[in-house]
Amino acid sequence: MIPAAFDYVAPSTVDDAVRALAEAGEDAKVIAGGQSLLPVLRVRLAAPSKLIDLGRIPELRGIHEDGDALVIGAMTTHYDVQRDPLVREHALLLALATDTVADPQVRHRGTFGGALAHADPAGDLLAPALALDVELVLSGMDGRRTVPAAEFFTDFFETAMRQGEILVEVRVPKKTGWGAHYEKFNRVAQAWSIVAVAAAMRVEGGSIAEARVGLTNMAAIPLRATAVEQALVGQPATAEAINAAAQHAAEGTSPAADGNADVEFRQHLARVLTSRAVSAAVGA
Ligand SMILES: Cc1cc2nc3c(=O)[nH]c(=O)nc-3n(C[C@H](O)[C@H](O)[C@H](O)COP(=O)(O)OP(=O)(O)OC[C@H]3O[C@@H](n4cnc5c(N)ncnc54)[C@H](O)[C@@H]3O)c2cc1C
Repeated sequence: MIPAAFDYVAPSTVDDAVRALAEAGEDAKVIAGGQSLLPVLRVRLAAPSKLIDLGRIPELRGIHEDGDALVIGAMTTHYDVQRDPLVREHALLLALATDTVADPQVRHRGTFGGALAHADPAGDLLAPALALDVELVLSGMDGRRTVPAAEFFTDFFETAMRQGEILVEVRVPKKTGWGAHYEKFNRVAQAWSIVAVAAAMRVEGGSIAEARVGLTNMAAIPLRATAVEQALVGQPATAEAINAAAQHAAEGTSPAADGNADVEFRQHLARVLTSRAVSAAVGA
């Protein structure tokens, strides 16, 4: 189908984009890579009066270091996140999860910020962002504010972003030297996650010193498997210890039942995939 008619602007600075969004009011939307928004417009599930294209704002693209953090511009494409050596060195989990997103065409157009702003519970970058405790920098008419990932995802396709705000950049605390793995379960290659598990681990002297585990599609929002994390810390990095801790993976989850999986199967997947993800992250 063809989208409903809309006005279009492509500002060249964040300030101009924020101003355009404020002036256009509630009916306006920003567009990043368009990989999620355009299909929604084409079936007319949304019909914004104005689209503000972020694609011509250079300051929104790119990855750089800032002390203990990596800063990823919201308009950085999945392709660029995947290939960036700084991401591989300091935030390996993000690179590995991005490797599993869709296909090369989507990864060339879709953006890191767009995926987080869209907040699809099956999206593959939300749980890694949560596990890594990233911070999201938002810009609006009242200036900038920073929201931790733990407060950003509020409900099914809902975030803490207020009307008129734009996600500008994501600050990722460095996890240099940590092991990582993203274990995704889907029926066919390049499909969305039915369930997936993001693991980042720091091993010291054969024991797990720090553990981060995020769950994809186990609730309306991404979740941390905190019971697993607590059970892992101090344990030897062995398959047996990891498997025992992974049995806590479904605690506190509330997955949906749909055509792909019922609740029990998703909970089973969470346990199995957690065991695999953590084992791979520590090399057990
Ligand atoms: C065929 C196909 C398969 C896919 N498979 C997967 C998959 O396996 N795993 C996965 O994780 N994703 C998948 N995706 C989604 C893909 O990752 C998209 O890139 C992503 O969801 C949205 O990014 P985008 O830049 O295209 O955002 P857009 O589609 O442009 O925008 C999405 C939403 O976010 C808002 N938005 C975007 N950027 C900002 C910003 N900077 N500030 C405020 N609001 C913003 C928009 O207003 C819109 O509401 C798939 C997409 C397609 C088309």
